Amino acid sequence: MKKKFIVFGKPYSNQEEIEEVVKTLKSGWWGTGPKTELFEKKFAAYAKAKYAVAVSSCTAGLHLALLSLGIKQGDEVITTPLTFVATANVIIHCGATPVFVDVDRQTGLINVEEIEKKITKKTKAIMPVHLYGRPCDMDKIKALAKKYKLFVIEDAAHAIESVYEQKKVGSIGDITVFSFYVTKNMTTGEGGMITTNNKKLAERMRILSLHGLSRDAYKRYSTRLFSLYECLMPGFKYNMTDLQSSLGLHQLKRIKKNASIRKKQWNKYDQLFTDNDSIEIPYLEDPNTYHARHLYTVLIKNKSLRNTVIQQLLDHGVGTGVHFMPVHLHGFYRKTYGYKKSDFPNTEYIGSRTISLPLGPSYTMDEIKYVGKTLTNILKNIKPSSFRT
Ligand SMILES: *Cc1c(COP(=O)(O)O)cnc(C)c1O
Repeated sequence: MKKKFIVFGKPYSNQEEIEEVVKTLKSGWWGTGPKTELFEKKFAAYAKAKYAVAVSSCTAGLHLALLSLGIKQGDEVITTPLTFVATANVIIHCGATPVFVDVDRQTGLINVEEIEKKITKKTKAIMPVHLYGRPCDMDKIKALAKKYKLFVIEDAAHAIESVYEQKKVGSIGDITVFSFYVTKNMTTGEGGMITTNNKKLAERMRILSLHGLSRDAYKRYSTRLFSLYECLMPGFKYNMTDLQSSLGLHQLKRIKKNASIRKKQWNKYDQLFTDNDSIEIPYLEDPNTYHARHLYTVLIKNKSLRNTVIQQLLDHGVGTGVHFMPVHLHGFYRKTYGYKKSDFPNTEYIGSRTISLPLGPSYTMDEIKYVGKTLTNILKNIKPSSFRT
């Protein structure tokens, strides 16, 4: 029997989401409204943050975070090149310059010891990325931010469940942004959530997320009192709809249960790959953190085999991901900032060897075992003549 193709990052949903979406469709209110308000409230409580603002994507949220902190032309923002391009792109959207700090070779997280060397008079913020679900060293990052009066904006696209030193990610930095893109630990199709404990920032981001209007659409249309609204600043169209929030409400409810599935699958991969010396398996937890296990990434030690392995996995019906191709090596970044190979050796080490395997509640344990065994067999039989670069 031919096996079904295993799509990488397949979203998980069940009947509750479907019913909620249908209810919303029938309610006559599809835009930003009561369900989004409720989703924000529930998410803020989950993230242990005072305020949450739902947005159309994590990218949109990161953009608003930078703008609300006044980051503009001539400023610099520190982040890592081992991330999705969106993290750096949004800095450029504000007219500012992304300044990269290489990652730690083992964890893939920003090398905190290197940050200080990159701080200049123009530096305004640090944007750590909680890569693959592991929280960055926030104590050290916050101490640096305090010393140099910088803001901390966390890219928590991978880190919905992550906890750092008993503190939930979402409650630590000045602003944290989560992603609900289809492949993430919970999804609304497209969507994101900003959290902060600062009321002024929350209000500013909320206004900016809907054209810069003084009241949001729901409040404009639902009250029976007529009221005009005005544009306070030229904002964006970055709001989340109630159709998306209908998905989010139920995805959030199941996040704990799904985390336990991720944990079992993660351990199964670990078990299937012990004693395999052609790959490096992901390094897991520090004692005082909770890793959200967003991505199970293996490093192919012989990097010239990586692309062949990915192709052979595809040939065997297994889709995988690459997280990430280093940002500084993308055409725009090379051309604009003059980056070249060997500028960030640890990022490049990981970026040229990494493969992310399917993980999460949409996969059965049999599928996980199939992926693990298929990878093991490919590595055992791979021939140098089949190299692709
Ligand atoms: C997915 C992702 C983003 C962007 O999220 P969207 O919701 O798709 O905008 C940003 N940063 C990282 C690290 C990501 O993986």
